[in-house]
Formats: sequence, structure tokens, C-alpha cells
Amino acid sequence: MSGVNEIRSTFLDYFVRNGHEAVASSPLVPRNDPTLMFTNAGMVQFKNVFTGIEKRPYSRASTSQKCVRAGGKHNDLDNVGYTARHHTFFEMLGNFSFGDYFKERAIELAWNLLTRDFGLPASKLMVTVFSEDDDAHALWKKIAGLPDDKIVRIATSDNYWRMGDTGPSGPCSEIFYDHGDHIWGGPPGSPDADGDRFIEIWNLVFMQFEDLPGGERVNLPRPSIDTGMGLERIATVLQHKHNNYDIDLFQALIRASVEAIGVPAEGETLASHRVIADHLRASSFLVADGVLPSNEGRGYVLRRIMRRAMRHISLLGAKDPIMWKLVPALVREMGAAYPELVRAEALISETLHLEETSFRRTLERGLALLDAESKNLGDGQVFSGDVAFTLYDTYGFPLDLTQDALRARNITVDEESYKAAMAQQKAKARAAWAGSGDAATETVWFGLKEQVGATEFLGYETETAEGVA
Ligand code: ATP
Ligand code: MG
Ligand code: MG
Ligand code: MG
Repeated sequence: MSGVNEIRSTFLDYFVRNGHEAVASSPLVPRNDPTLMFTNAGMVQFKNVFTGIEKRPYSRASTSQKCVRAGGKHNDLDNVGYTARHHTFFEMLGNFSFGDYFKERAIELAWNLLTRDFGLPASKLMVTVFSEDDDAHALWKKIAGLPDDKIVRIATSDNYWRMGDTGPSGPCSEIFYDHGDHIWGGPPGSPDADGDRFIEIWNLVFMQFEDLPGGERVNLPRPSIDTGMGLERIATVLQHKHNNYDIDLFQALIRASVEAIGVPAEGETLASHRVIADHLRASSFLVADGVLPSNEGRGYVLRRIMRRAMRHISLLGAKDPIMWKLVPALVREMGAAYPELVRAEALISETLHLEETSFRRTLERGLALLDAESKNLGDGQVFSGDVAFTLYDTYGFPLDLTQDALRARNITVDEESYKAAMAQQKAKARAAWAGSGDAATETVWFGLKEQVGATEFLGYETETAEGVA
């Protein structure tokens, strides 16, 4: 059985053998890209290479890219703990062709890696293609010998990728692994596709068009390839597991969590340990890349991730800060591949310790209020937005933490009244402002304050660029 570290190297070595340059992961905070909250795909660092603005000394590359999908357009935060395949932080393995090889070679490279080097039986694999992409359909038939019922045509945007409103775009083709009929779920394209049986492991994007302003679509003179495969998902398959959290890396982190808290990972406590392990990775890698917990922007996303983990730690009954104690286990598992983690170890521990110590001061009382206010609510009922605001304002509970806490009982939060309470508080702050008496200055001041100093940051919703579909 190969561990995650070996699988990562096998992937990169394979593409280097096939003429690719091994390129290091770029940081989680994208450089020169204010439209994107976090790096969420392997192609992000190559955006300008694909559009031709930037030249590199190679036309083929391969990476294992650090990704976070916990804000903006791609947000998997609410999936963690509920699906077998989503993390907030994960590694995306990818190979890229910048105007070099195209569809045929990309399919061949992917298929050979999976079925020869990784030794997966072809009978367990199936693929999707964009409904209009006859070329891809024919190539899968020719190269992989897949029967028609294992090459599913998908008409939705799931199989059509765009860099933005304009720029490169093209159809994509996704490879799925069948984890077996003892697991609930249907094949891609079926009504039960969301189950955990057929799991998407690899997405191949065929960049062949350019979308021009005004809606015209022209052929790219030199089409390109962008692919992404989740390291944790392929490791799950190769380690004969059915859930990402059962791979060697996560088992090590969960063991550390079990040891530090003293509660086994079984039945109801299993999900909490999984969430803690996931959020530990995301938090630590974000701190290593320069993000610190705060009340706005990226720092607020980090704070939300940390506090969600801390609620689970509290659910498991721990009385002292725990997350910082798990950092050595993470560094042991991932420090060799990501030396920035080793360099930042002390900062990560200290940041986690400080945040957990300060959140602890209000966490228990906040949870008591949440329990008291929700105990008479049942399935499908709505939790008061005013109380959710008090939890936010007085106890430091981000809205999504409250929502997450109520979700298992299928209770939702009245977001309208939550927002109204937030707006009312802002108005009060404005009225209480003694000010300079200069109305024009005050207008500018409050405008700015609401823009940059808003307690809950709602920006990045208009993110344009995204990674593989
Ligand atoms: P899904 O449909 O399962 O949410 P996706 O289509 O959103 O995946 P892509 O954007 O195509 O994912 O990303 C490429 C690959 O990255 C996926 O095929 C998958 O292997 C992996 N991946 C995507 N999101 C996650 C995640 N949150 N956690 C772990 N791996 C992921
Ligand atoms: Mg997704
Ligand atoms: Mg998908
Ligand atoms: Mg996909």
C-alpha cells in the first residue's frame, strides 16, 4: 500500500518522465489576483501562461498544488464531515500543456497512469464528457476501450469550463471511480449521482476556445490542457478505502486528535474528529502562507474554520485548547513535502493556541445559549436571527458556525432578521458617533468603515476566475 507521500511523488515522476517540468505549488494566497480569495486549483498560478501574457521556459508542467475551497465561488466548508470526498484544504495533482499536446495525449497520459502505473482495473472507471464534445467521446473509446454506457455525455456547465466571462474556455471530461455497490449512489448524470459510490477523481479540461466580449466564441490557435486530481481521493482508491478520511495521512491526524482529547473516533464522535483533522490542515497551511485570524477577508475565513474545529473539540468534552497540540503530527506527515510548514511551526502553534484560548472564554456560554434557544425547535424549524446575531456579536460565533451546529437537527437560521440585526447595530454605531461635525467627512468615514472594516466580510462573492470546473 502506498502512502500519500509516495503517491504524490509517483504522480510527479510520471509526468516528469513524460516531458513535464515539475513546478512547486504556489501559495494559498494568490499573487496579483485580488479577485480570488484562495488558490483553489492547480491552474491558478498558470492563468497568465494560458492566456499568453506570461512566457515560461517550458510548455508542459506538473504540480501538486495546495488548494483551499472555503470561500468565494468554490466553497466546500459545509461538505466537510458530510461527504466522503471533500476537504477545505486539499492537494490538487495536475498536468498542464501550454499550447503543446491536446486532448488525445491528455487522455492517454491520464488513462495510462491510472491503469498501468497505479494498476486500477478499467472496469472500475467511467468518464463523463461534455455533451457536444464528440472528439473526447471518440478518444475515450479508442484509447481506453470504454463502452458507450461508461462514457456519459453531460450537458451542464459541470462539464464546460470558463476562466471568466471572457478568455479561455472549453469542454472537460471527468474520470470517476466506482467504489462498489455496497455504497449508496448512482453514476454521474443519474439522479443519485451525489452519493459516495461513484467518486470523481480527475478532471481534464480541454481549453480550446476563447470567449470574446460580446459573446463570440473563437478557436484558440494553440489549445491547452489543464487537469486536476485530488491527491486524497486517489489515495483513498489506492489504499482500498472508501472515505478520504480513512487514508494514512488522515488516520495519523485523527490518532493525534483522539490522543489529545481522550475520546475515541467512533459513532457520533467520528465526524468531529474528521472535522478537527481537516480544519487543522486548512488553518495551519493558511497561517504558514501568511494569513492570520481577523474579522475580515481571508483572515475571517481562517477564523471561521478554526472556530468550527474548536466547537467540535468542545463537543468532545475537552476543557483546554487542543488544536495547537496537533501541529507536530501534521508537520510529521506533511513537513517534508511542504517545508513552509516546518518553518512556520511555532507561529502556527501560537496562533492556534491564542485563538482557542480567547474563543474558549465565550464558547461554552454561547453553546449554552444556542442550546437553550433551540431546544424547543424541531425538524425543519427556524432559529431566531436575533439570537444568531447575539451569538455572533457577544460570543464570537460566526453565522456559519451557528448554522453548522443546527444543521444536524435540520434547523435553519432566519438570515433576514440576522442581517437586519447587523444593520441595526451599524446604524446605532453611526448615531453614537460624536464626530467632527463635518458631514462630508463623516459620510466618507462611514463609507470607508463599512467597506474595509465591516465586521463580517462579504466580499469576494464576485470572484471571476476559478480553477477546473
Ligand atoms: P466535486 O464535484 O466532487 O465537488 P469538483 O468538480 O468541484 O469536485 P474540480 O473543480 O473538478 O472538483 O477539481 C478537480 C479535482 O480536485 C476533483 O476531481 C477532485 O479530485 C479534487 N477536489 C475538488 N474539490 C475537492 C475538495 N473539496 N476536497 C478534496 N478534493 C477535491
Ligand atoms: Mg466541487
Ligand atoms: Mg464535480
Ligand atoms: Mg470536477
